[in-house]
Amino acid sequence: RAALALPQPGSGSRIRLFSSEQESALADLRAMQHQLKVATARDELHLVYQPQIDLRDGRVIGAEALLRWNHPQRGQVSPGEFVPVAEASGQMGVLGQWVVDEACRQLAAWRASGQIDETFKLAVNVSPAQLSDPGFADWLLAALAHWQVPARALTLEVTESALMEDVGLARHLLTQISDAGLEIAVDDFGTGYSSLAYLKTLPVDTLKIDRAFVRDLARDHQDQVLSQAVVAMAHSFRHEVVAEGIEMPEQAALLRDLGCEYAQGFWFAPPLSAAGFVSLYQDPPDWSF
Ligand code: C2E
Ligand code: MG
Ligand code: MG
Ligand code: MG
Repeated sequence: RAALALPQPGSGSRIRLFSSEQESALADLRAMQHQLKVATARDELHLVYQPQIDLRDGRVIGAEALLRWNHPQRGQVSPGEFVPVAEASGQMGVLGQWVVDEACRQLAAWRASGQIDETFKLAVNVSPAQLSDPGFADWLLAALAHWQVPARALTLEVTESALMEDVGLARHLLTQISDAGLEIAVDDFGTGYSSLAYLKTLPVDTLKIDRAFVRDLARDHQDQVLSQAVVAMAHSFRHEVVAEGIEMPEQAALLRDLGCEYAQGFWFAPPLSAAGFVSLYQDPPDWSF
């Protein structure tokens, strides 16, 4: 069965045909957009925390905060599914503010109770929509001040494609943010089409090697060469390197031997609840690799 869609204003006189699958996909999308709008108010969102480990001594130096949506009907919806929807429907600004605020609240609570130490860093993911909001830096610094969290305790993870969308604006915002003392990490490094020449001009502290390069590291010599090149380049720009997606001790050992400073991945720990994270932080397992 095919349904006829009425031409949208401005779309000319073309009549588009939607299959019933497309129609129901569209209905799902609309429903998700609507449900996302009420998700914060209904307390359906929360953050989970994946430990980041120093490969040189096995210490937990921080965590990445990852957004989770507990949907009333569908259960846990992955950010890979709803972040792009929120982004496309203009809702990522509001969601992103919730993430930063919640991350600061958690940091403040952990610091006040002495459950984490002074040097602990929490990384939050920032979407392209947030980076194209000229008020983002002011808002971010206001949130830190509100929760009395020092800027150095928060790292922003920005994907290289988000950085490349408008390099001028990204440079302006990130310079403000970096001057205030936050760290900037380039997420999913190596998967986008970033220009190294532009990257050089941005106030970046860390590159995160995407897990696509880590997956076959133990058996794929080319991935070893690539990772080695990324580490060498990062170091020549005075950036540190975090490797994502460590699922085997061999990967951790190889990356450590290449000089990669930090890592995260299921082999160390999956993303954990706040309580689960604190117990791991206070009594870390003996990871030997
Ligand atoms: P990302 O920032 O690159 O986050 C890493 C993703 O890899 C997370 O997926 C994490 O659970 C997963 N991961 C960690 N270790 C392993 C491993 O050893 N193996 C494998 N296969 N995966 C691993 P998650 O939480 O589903 O998030 C997916 C993406 O959604 C994130 O990728 C990020 O781009 C986005 N995202 C998550 N939370 C937020 C948020 O608060 N704001 C924004 N803007 N985006 C977010
Ligand atoms: Mg990330
Ligand atoms: Mg990543
Ligand atoms: Mg990734």
